Amino acid sequence: APRLILILGDQLSPHLSSLAEGDPARDRVVMAEVAGECDYVPHHRKKIAFLFAAMRHFADRLRQDGWRVDYYTLDQDHQDLTDALLASRRDSGARQLLVTAPGEWRLLEAMKRQWPQKLGCTVRILDDRRFLCTTEAFRDWAEGRKQPRMEYFYRTMRRATGLLMDADGQPLGGRWNFDKENRKRFDGEAPPPGPKRFTPDATTREVLELVEARFPDRFGDLQPFWFAVTEEQAQASLSHFLDHALPHFGDYQDAMDSGDDFLFHSVLSQYINAGLLDPLAVCEAAEQRYLQDKAPLNAVEGFIRQILGWREYVRGLYWLLMPDYREENRLASHRDLPWFYWSGETRMRCVSEAVRATREHAYAHHIQRLMVTGNLALLLGVDVKQIHEWYLAVYADAFEWVELPNTLGMVMHADGGYLGSKPYAASGKYIQRMSDYCGDCPYKVSSAEEDNSCPFNSLYWHFIHRHRRRFEKHPRMSMIYKAWGRMAESKRDAILARADTLLEDPEHL
Ligand code: FAD
Ligand code: SF4
Repeated sequence: APRLILILGDQLSPHLSSLAEGDPARDRVVMAEVAGECDYVPHHRKKIAFLFAAMRHFADRLRQDGWRVDYYTLDQDHQDLTDALLASRRDSGARQLLVTAPGEWRLLEAMKRQWPQKLGCTVRILDDRRFLCTTEAFRDWAEGRKQPRMEYFYRTMRRATGLLMDADGQPLGGRWNFDKENRKRFDGEAPPPGPKRFTPDATTREVLELVEARFPDRFGDLQPFWFAVTEEQAQASLSHFLDHALPHFGDYQDAMDSGDDFLFHSVLSQYINAGLLDPLAVCEAAEQRYLQDKAPLNAVEGFIRQILGWREYVRGLYWLLMPDYREENRLASHRDLPWFYWSGETRMRCVSEAVRATREHAYAHHIQRLMVTGNLALLLGVDVKQIHEWYLAVYADAFEWVELPNTLGMVMHADGGYLGSKPYAASGKYIQRMSDYCGDCPYKVSSAEEDNSCPFNSLYWHFIHRHRRRFEKHPRMSMIYKAWGRMAESKRDAILARADTLLEDPEHL
């Protein structure tokens, strides 16, 4: 009997383990656009369109490669994946389902525990080999470490892959990390190239019409739609980044600018996560640019660290710590997410710019996510589940295995510090230093206690003050507590009073 091979929307890679195991002459591929996955959180319309368009192109490619593909479109109204799979199973008489492990704990559990019975066939779950570190290898690495740190994991991965290593097993350039060189403010000197843009073909246009019709009121602009939707286009996006942006990636990695939503970032995460690009090949291509003297080491090392280090590290943590992980909330954050995260209607210029970019592109770069929308959520003490659902919904690259550790761990410090020993809390001064936002903002960044003072300033001190017991003894935070202690009491009171006023009505910031 034939077997069914289920391919999920973020598994669009011809080298997928389930395809490697299957046989085109005998087995059938199943792909499905299902309503349940669109509504699980209110995904950005561009994200839905991107995934459906990429899925349809991938199905066409598999058919060209000789596979039989059962493709279920959204208008066939299958509520969830098992509905679609049941239709194919009945039609084919298949007795086994092959699937590469999904990137979400909830779905993996359902596959293991409910699907065999629901589908009336065995379910074989294969490892996802698109990652550079297996979940078992990560577990082995993390075991016995009191506090796992990304930096040490990254060094292990550099050694394991040989990326940017010399013949003696030492890091090229004599250092593992060039972060200190990567903190320039953007001065407009080098014009950012922006991501490569593609014109939608007939297949993509059909998807855009479907998404417009089905989700007329959802968050997120559908047009202009310029994402790559095939492996070839994603490769062209990678080349475009390597040629034009990588040389400056390091210098401006932490910068923000109101004139440019992308700066020198790669805008490749959605393609890597969906399977259109292979992470190791991306790292190797970047390494080549350094070896050919086309990009400096601080840029190439910084870029490779994001993929080989951070991306693999958060994935390892996710599978190590789920399902308890998603319940963590160690700073006891319970405030409702302000509506302006969706509407963008806030006087805070840095925030309205981040939300605008998010709405337009289903993208904001890392510093906007971490130091603007993330930092504000941390300082306000927004409920961890609400802010998690927001990040999962609004970005085209958002899948739970990568989004949850970044939100819950890196931004909200809700896990006690797997992604940073201290929280990334910062006042308006940081945003002022790294961007041009504050000049056009009605709030005054130089003040913390006046009525028009920058909200980040008083909220920052309020955060420091209210979490004193947890962080006061932290070696990297004691200076901050000393500075707070040295301030005149009247000034401290005025700052806290300003923060209390803001916290009473965060909707109107
Ligand atoms: P670049 O700056 O060009 O970086 C290169 C690549 O490195 C990215 O494409 C990505 O694959 C990888 N990378 C960089 N930083 C991280 C990181 N912290 N974790 C994992 N991979 C990283 N990334 C996602 O892919 N999906 C998410 O859902 C997601 N949610 C996030 C939520 C929050 C609150 C924060 C602070 C970060 C989140 N990130 C997420 C990480 C990061 O912001 C994005 O990967 C990055 O902005 C994508 O843009 P880029 O491709 O231009 O990245
Ligand atoms: Fe953001 Fe404060 Fe600067 Fe306004 S003044 S842009 S709120 S950091």
